[in-house]
Amino acid sequence: MDLSARVAIVTGSGQGIGREIALTLAEHGAGVVISDINATTANEVAAEIVARNGKSMAITADVTVQEEVASLVDQTVSSLGQIDILVNNAGIARDTLLVRMSSTDWDQVLATNLKGAFLCTQAVVRHMIRQRWGRIINIASVVGLIGNSGQANYAAAKAGLIGLTKTTAREVAARGVTANAIAPGFIDTEMTRKLSDNAKQEFLRQVPLGYVGLPKDVADAVAFLASEEARYITGHVLNVDGGMVMT
Ligand code: NAP
Repeated sequence: MDLSARVAIVTGSGQGIGREIALTLAEHGAGVVISDINATTANEVAAEIVARNGKSMAITADVTVQEEVASLVDQTVSSLGQIDILVNNAGIARDTLLVRMSSTDWDQVLATNLKGAFLCTQAVVRHMIRQRWGRIINIASVVGLIGNSGQANYAAAKAGLIGLTKTTAREVAARGVTANAIAPGFIDTEMTRKLSDNAKQEFLRQVPLGYVGLPKDVADAVAFLASEEARYITGHVLNVDGGMVMT
């Protein structure tokens, strides 16, 4: 998969799955904008790519703020000349049972995981339509497909993200732009290290392959969907979950 003519933005790529996606796209030759709310980690990842002879720059942006998203896309296009691949990866969880969930926890999770993806998609899509080529890849979750106790806000946001993916795919298909979602299962990152041992065991019991996935497992799927080879795939949800959800 040759991405050397491509420029990508990966949101929330200062750490975890987003970082691995950025490193992997850069390995395939793409110029990658490391975008995160955290300037320190974003700069570190961009420096890591450059140290490996890749093309990268860091741009700090909060995906929930429309002006910051607009500036992220403007800076990308003015510095790197184009935008071909958007990976909506930035996400947070604020887990608690529905009866105890505050409206603030609901709003924050919906704002980051769903509204953020909408704002970023809207900001890049006109560039992609104009150049008749684009790849939008949304990092959802199997929880958006099957639900999960304690994650009403997160599951609703990820289910919404799948709806956004399919609608985007239909609206831009005629212009050479595809939109797909990846639904990771249980992946070893800071987000899942915070879970109790019991919760981890419970997740693992549901994984036929019997082990926790790595950020690289998600990143390789993103690289494929971003490539020319995936040109005939759009509106799809690709589960990267060790067989946890078979639909
Ligand atoms: P993570 O380690 O917490 O990384 C998320 C990154 O996004 C962090 O660098 C975070 O910055 C950044 N971020 C948070 N809010 C942001 C905002 N408003 N604007 C821009 N960046 C923001 O999470 P992860 O485990 O790598 O997860 C990445 C994605 O995969 C998320 O969408 C998550 O829902 C999804 N996912 C993860 C798993 C899993 O098992 N880990 C499973 C399914 C889906 P700060 O930390 O500095 O705030």
